[in-house]
Amino acid sequence: MTDVTSLADLSLLPVPEAGDATARTQAESGDAVGEQRNRAVEAILSAVQGGESILLVAHVDPDGDSLGSAIALGLALRTLGSRASVSFDSDPFVVPRSLTFLPGQDLLVPPALVPATPDLVVTLDAGSLGRLGALGRVATRARRMVVIDHHASNTRFGDINVIDADAASTSVMITDVIDALGVELDHDLAVAIYTGLVTDTGSFRYAATTPAVHQLAARLLATGIRHDLITRTVWDTHRFGYLRLLGELLGRARLEPEHDLVWTWCAFPDLTRAGLTLDEIEGVIDIVRTTAEAEVAVVCKQGADEVWRVSVRSKGAVDVGAVCTELGGGGHRFAAGLTSSNPLEQTLDSLRDALVRAPRLPV
Ligand code: AMP
Ligand code: MN
Ligand code: MN
Repeated sequence: MTDVTSLADLSLLPVPEAGDATARTQAESGDAVGEQRNRAVEAILSAVQGGESILLVAHVDPDGDSLGSAIALGLALRTLGSRASVSFDSDPFVVPRSLTFLPGQDLLVPPALVPATPDLVVTLDAGSLGRLGALGRVATRARRMVVIDHHASNTRFGDINVIDADAASTSVMITDVIDALGVELDHDLAVAIYTGLVTDTGSFRYAATTPAVHQLAARLLATGIRHDLITRTVWDTHRFGYLRLLGELLGRARLEPEHDLVWTWCAFPDLTRAGLTLDEIEGVIDIVRTTAEAEVAVVCKQGADEVWRVSVRSKGAVDVGAVCTELGGGGHRFAAGLTSSNPLEQTLDSLRDALVRAPRLPV
């Protein structure tokens, strides 16, 4: 029988009242974000007006939010007459299969061909310099660096840092920048922004999905985008080899009640045998994390470089963003990650240790 107690509890969740301490803190931090955003918009406009070189950088192995945000800003700058380039570090330099529908791909420039010392670099959805990979070096050589991001763990590595941990996606923040630049939201901009929104809200299911998020979605839909096709391509399309591999990865998943943990792994040979690439197994964590008996879910994915990319999710009782930051990674409170060059068991052991030590949050 289903235990409905926890569902009944939902109605008891406190709703912050306007004017209480929580609301005030958010308003103050909102002002600080607005001030940084104004500075960022000024820096961007001055670079456009001065005909300066502008480079927009998404994080390594980009997802729909980082690439969608970078492309949206690139398209907006093109409308203003700038030839901004968009780049990211990925080996090989290819757009993930699920994002090949994104408009504006002619803006893409491989890392080897970006300006060596750009006048302005804007980084999108990257919580630290390390998340830019090899492009981190280019970013530090830029005359000016603007960081636009929504990770609580952001290290504020730019000259101007627009960081809003409450934003549902970086693409929401980019919409505010584009509005401030005075560029009209057209169909292509809407596709790029919506892609970031649908990626990071898990199709409008996660807690960051506020009324404002739905209002933005309505505004984007009004441009005539095929949101059904975007969602199907981003979330619901896989090559047949994925089904087989998914069966294997789920079949070997391990439940560790003593650590309140469920986890599985995909070694690089598993991936190549299935004829797939890393970006194609991003969704495995979304199935593993549905396990009712575990608070924390983990999927370890090994790349051609033998490095493990570890995806970590929690249901709300553990700040896995803090746990991953402690282990050299980062992310959001309940969706985070890290990389590890250690063997799988060792990687898991440090994660188990950190999880056991992590304080339990009220849910
Ligand atoms: P993923 O599991 O790859 O979907 O990532 C979940 C979240 O954690 C995203 O917001 C990522 O930006 C962040 N993240 C993943 N891997 C790392 C890492 N190695 N370092 C910092 N942040 C990461
Ligand atoms: Mn991202
Ligand atoms: Mn994001």
